[in-house]
Amino acid sequence: MAPIKPSPHLSNVRYEIRGALTRRAREMEAEGLPIIKLNIGNPARYGFQTPPHLREAIAAKLTESEAYGHEQGLEEARAAIADLQRARGARGVDMDRVFIGNGVSELIDISLRALLQPGDEVLLPSPDYPLWSAATILNGGRPRYYRCLPENGHLPDPAEIESLITPRTRALVLINPNNPTGAVYPRALLEQIVAIAARHRLLLLCDEIYDEILYDGAVFQPLAEVAGDVPCVSFGGLSKVHRACGYRVGWMSLSGDPARTAEYRDALQLLAALRLCANATAQWAVVPALQGAPTIHALTAPGGRLHEARRAVIEGVAASDYLELAAPEGALYAFPGVRADRLPVFDDGAFALRLLEQESVLVVPGASFNVPASRQFRLTLLPQPEELREVFVRIERVLAAMAAE
Ligand code: PLP
Repeated sequence: MAPIKPSPHLSNVRYEIRGALTRRAREMEAEGLPIIKLNIGNPARYGFQTPPHLREAIAAKLTESEAYGHEQGLEEARAAIADLQRARGARGVDMDRVFIGNGVSELIDISLRALLQPGDEVLLPSPDYPLWSAATILNGGRPRYYRCLPENGHLPDPAEIESLITPRTRALVLINPNNPTGAVYPRALLEQIVAIAARHRLLLLCDEIYDEILYDGAVFQPLAEVAGDVPCVSFGGLSKVHRACGYRVGWMSLSGDPARTAEYRDALQLLAALRLCANATAQWAVVPALQGAPTIHALTAPGGRLHEARRAVIEGVAASDYLELAAPEGALYAFPGVRADRLPVFDDGAFALRLLEQESVLVVPGASFNVPASRQFRLTLLPQPEELREVFVRIERVLAAMAAE
């Protein structure tokens, strides 16, 4: 009997954050080996809790969320998101230009599906959050990568971005604060990027899901304010800042000259309607999340758990004979690299497998984030600082063994 063949579109799609290494880690766990998992930015798995006022809002509205809701999302929630974006300086945003989805993940797909024709090109960062590449490819587009190199603090070079533009380029994606690198983009850089989008009539897509997770005085600049009349989609959500990944609530808002984006807005609405609505119950957490007391700063300020975890990682790298790191300024990850002068031949995938099998530590190889010939790996800052200190002892053992071979 002929096998059932999956779509060939999938052959270039990868998501190794939950890929083969994770499956190997699960097998090891099933054999009774405890694994230190540093692969996913899932706060609740590391003992962080969703703030009680979000939970309570949902519990109180359970019986009011049994029907399908508006395809773009709960009115109260969309109004709060539009208020937030306007307060941040976004132009042209109102409730009709806000879409709530089952996580930012769903909206990344919808935003690209509404835009792309086969062969259209999308400018993506390398490293990227791999869903952006996957959604581009699955919607018929072609990723064109601009580099965010560690020696430049993982910031992009606007000249390189502009050099990649062709007549097929439709959109420019930014991730700020960045996953996987933790880079936070300065305003002057965003101004240059907006000017490029304006010159070439590109749609800006800015994934700002880590907008309030900032360290050591880093300042987040919302892209929509800088973009002004240039069409821009800004993404945010409950998963990270509000530690509610499982609620599956994200949003996107469309800013800029409304006349230029009217048709695109309608296409977004049609795609939203095709899937009826996002999880209605969880959307009740949006208003308390955006209008209640902020809860993330206690974790990112000195003495807070994320701040101390980040410090443990920076110290772990500083004490290492092999590692280097552009310290993360935001988000939930570090993206250290292995120094070429200490370990000239380095395979990130082989390293990650060895770290898992010999030391029971699961990280994500840099190549998973669409970096060619990566010497890097990503780990999350979510474990307890002591655990991260132990992780660096184990990493050093593996790198020393590789260097001795
Ligand atoms: N965008 C980035 C940059 C992410 O890191 C993630 C999750 O890790 C997502 C989007 C997806 O988030 P959500 O849980 O809202 O689907």
